[in-house]
Amino acid sequence: TLPIIYAITPTYSRPVQKAELTRLANTFRQVAGLHWIVVEDSPQPTELVNRFLARAGVRATHLHVPTPRRYKRAGLPRATEQRNAGLTWLRQQYQTQLLHRQTTAPGSSPHLPNISGVVFFADDDNTYSLELFQEMRTTQKVSVWPVGLVGGRRYERPVVENGKVVGWYTGWRADRPFAIDMAGFAVSLQVILSSPKALFKRRGSQPGMQESDFLKQITKVDELEPKASNCTKVLVWHTRTEKVNLANEPKHPQDTIKIEV
Ligand code: UDP
Ligand code: MN
Repeated sequence: TLPIIYAITPTYSRPVQKAELTRLANTFRQVAGLHWIVVEDSPQPTELVNRFLARAGVRATHLHVPTPRRYKRAGLPRATEQRNAGLTWLRQQYQTQLLHRQTTAPGSSPHLPNISGVVFFADDDNTYSLELFQEMRTTQKVSVWPVGLVGGRRYERPVVENGKVVGWYTGWRADRPFAIDMAGFAVSLQVILSSPKALFKRRGSQPGMQESDFLKQITKVDELEPKASNCTKVLVWHTRTEKVNLANEPKHPQDTIKIEV
């Protein structure tokens, strides 16, 4: 059977949120066996996201956790708590299943059952080709691929020699142990479950080091599995949406209806 792809998407309320989620859903709806874990950066789940997911046509789990105010500052990494909430939810799901199996099937082997799945961190503003999901689906432990429009260059990519990652083509902080964007890797569910403490870090994590700090906990550079034709194709783009101009928005409601945008 097809390994499930768990896409963990942090998202927060802003004028373009529903537009971003719509683009994402239109992509994910076309991917078989995808489970979307949407984690709102909010103290409560919002009605907008709730309604949206109910009609999105994508298998989804809706979580929420607010970013502490002290971390909502320019220059600090974003969505750390939300990605961790997604990981914790996944681990809890399978923990429950494991316990259940052990009580219902006494004598069965105590180690992990055959769990095939892939975990991917999908920010809500990036652009994902459908091919990307075919590539990541075969992840054994941790797979990597190029990301377009990132790091002040047209693309960044893992440099591959004889099928192994030997370095990074990047224009920004080349000293990073894993010089790769969040959109440039996937992790098998087995690895997520067998490294139960691996999480994204706030403390001591500098901008751009989230990925390295996380990957260091679960893998080594020479173990990485290059995808996208030995990392020679761009299948995902780190697009960013322009801030909308709301300069002409009335201070007080003027329309005769209230409308969700
Ligand atoms: N995000 C969030 N809370 C915030 C800022 C961002 O949950 O306060 C989410 C956002 O929706 C996106 C991810 O975190 O899915 C990365 O944020 P962004 O795209 O702004 O980062 P960048 O493109 O600069 O890496
Ligand atoms: Mn982004």
